[in-house]
Formats: sequence, C-alpha cells, structure tokens
Amino acid sequence: MQSNIKLGRISGIEIGLHYSWFIIAALIVFSLGEHFRQVNPNWATGQIWFTALFTAVLFFVSLVLHELSHSLVAQARGLKVKAITLFALGGVSQIEGDASDAKTEFWVAIAGPIASLIIGFGCLAFAFGLGWHRPAEPRTGMTAILVWLGYINVALAVFNMIPGFPLDGGRVLRAIVWAMTKNADRSTRIAARIGQVVAFLFIFDGIWEFFGGSGFDGLWIAFIGWFLLDAAKASYGQAEITAAFQGVPVSSVMSRDCVTVNRGMSLQEFVDTYVLRAGQRCCAVEDQGRLVGLITLRDVGAIPRELWDKTTVREAMCPLEKLHIITPDTQVLDALNLMAGNDVNQLPVVANGTLQGIFSRSQLMQLLQARPELQLPAAHYPPITAQR
Ligand SMILES: [Zn+2]
Repeated sequence: MQSNIKLGRISGIEIGLHYSWFIIAALIVFSLGEHFRQVNPNWATGQIWFTALFTAVLFFVSLVLHELSHSLVAQARGLKVKAITLFALGGVSQIEGDASDAKTEFWVAIAGPIASLIIGFGCLAFAFGLGWHRPAEPRTGMTAILVWLGYINVALAVFNMIPGFPLDGGRVLRAIVWAMTKNADRSTRIAARIGQVVAFLFIFDGIWEFFGGSGFDGLWIAFIGWFLLDAAKASYGQAEITAAFQGVPVSSVMSRDCVTVNRGMSLQEFVDTYVLRAGQRCCAVEDQGRLVGLITLRDVGAIPRELWDKTTVREAMCPLEKLHIITPDTQVLDALNLMAGNDVNQLPVVANGTLQGIFSRSQLMQLLQARPELQLPAAHYPPITAQR
C-alpha cells in the first residue's frame, strides 16, 4: 500500500493518503451530516456540515494516532518504520522486517488498540464533564463530536482485537502462541488458520443477516469477512514460504540449465529455436562469455510481431545495468523480497561476471508443490554442488 499524497513526517515516519481514502472520507462526512441532521433538527445546515467535517478530520487524526502507537513502539524496540498510510479500510503501518521476539510482536500489536481505547474513553469522559449523560443524545456541537469520536474509537479498538490475523488481535494471539511454542513460523500458521475461521464466521453471519432482512449491513459484514479471509490466506502462504526457505541460499534452488543465446540473433530466430522448440521462458544473453542481459517472453512480447525479423536479441533484452543481480549465496527470502519490490519474476544469479543460474518465482512454486507429492520433509534440499 503506497501513499499517493504525502502529508508530512512524524519521528521520521512518513504520513500519507492513498487515493481510496477519499471515498471513505466522503462517505463518513455525508453519513455524519445525515446523523447530526436527524439528532439535532434545530441545527442550521452550516453548523451540521461544519461539525461533520470537523468530526471526520478528528476521526482520521485518531486513526493516525492508532497507527503511530504501533509504529513508535516498533521503533523503540529497534524495528524500522517507513510510513503510515490511510486507505479505504483504515490505516496501515509499514514496518520493515518482522519482530524478532514474541514480546516485541505483542507490544507493537497491542499498542494501537490501547491508543484507540484511551482516545475513546477520554472523549466520552470529556463529554460527560460537559454535561452529557448516557443514553441521551448530545445536544451541543462539542459534545456531539466527542460522543461520536468516543464510541467510534472504542469500536475501533474492539474490532481490531478480533483474533483474525493480520488484525491486531490476530497478532496479539500470534505473539502469545509464539511465547508458548517458541516457534515463530508455527505461531503465524496457527494465527492465520484461526484468522480464516474468524473470517468464515464473518461471511456466514453477514449472509445470514442479509437474508434475515438487514440488507446492506449484512453485505458489509460479509465483505469484511472476505477481506479478512484473503489477508489470512496470504499470511499463511507467506509463513509457509518463510518456514520452507529459512536460511536456504538461492544456489540450492536456482535452475542451472540456463540457455545462453548470442546477442546478435534475431528475435524471430530466438522464438523459433528456444521458445517454441525448447519451451524456454527466459534466456541469458552473452557476449564473448560474459553476461550482458536477460531476455524473457515479456521482453519479446513488447516488440510488435512484424519487427521480430529485424530486431536483435540485444535490442529487445533487459541489459545487465537494469537487472537486479543476486549471488549464489543470497538468501531465498531476500531474493523473494527483491523480486516483490521490483516487480520481476526472475533474477539472474551471477558470480565473477558469469551466469550461474536463474532464480525464478515459478520454479520456486513448483518446488513447493513437488515436495509434498514426493513426500519429502519440508527442509529437504539437494546438496549444494560445487560452484563453477
Ligand atoms: Zn492496529
């Protein structure tokens, strides 16, 4: 989640907005306006919209404070925090790297809900001090703002504490399982599984309520459940990969049967010889034994077909300067991060200027699938063969 509009920095952490945020901001202002109009029919139109707008701004400030609590605790415990982004479904803190111990995970995760609870009860107490009493509707603009912010922040804390990973509650649960089992990956998988169960409960409840006549509210609950299910699935897959490839260098999993092609070859010849006959998806381009670039199906596809005869592999390839190169002892997990960060599907593995192999996402996935089929243990890797 990248922010599109940058608002500034707090303690070195960039605060920004994603475009999708504007949709939810507009929805909140309009529904608040409607709410204030119904509750206080004697208010002037200007007062209603000013109060709604001001309340919405304070609501987003309290969201930033929730995220900032996660981020500042993470910073205090030695993690790097890049940015906080507000988007359609709330806020997200981009914390680099994972917590190295259960205690850090616990405090980083619970800091946000604690902040929301303090803000929520603080606002309600303030409104109480100004003469508002439950369950009466607040009469003045000030108490109306405080009461709405109070309830929404308490609700935010409660919702985030639902034990569905990757929600805050799921992370707290993961930290507790981690402390008990002393196994970080297993705790992620357990928390993600529980997250999936919680997500299914949301979906069933949402559908149940929808057919029970609650209409949009039911659909909304089901939608949140679907979003949670997706997030829990992704976390589970991530944990599986982390567990399977922890400490494994790319030299153990890269493909070594790389085909090298001459840079002067035409694209037509390349497609005929290597793509159609040998089924290669990616080839190294060499010039006098030295790697000069990589050519993939994506590069070929970018050139109009009628030009394949006149275009050389060298003209279509991705040159070495633009490639992200890894060495045989780069860790698989680091290589995956590099791929994700640069939106590529393969990385050339180079040592001393010569190509040693290709590390690709599709090959890694095949490996993950092949292992259970062959009933190999999770940590079985081919022995590392001598380097060229
Ligand atoms: Zn949170």
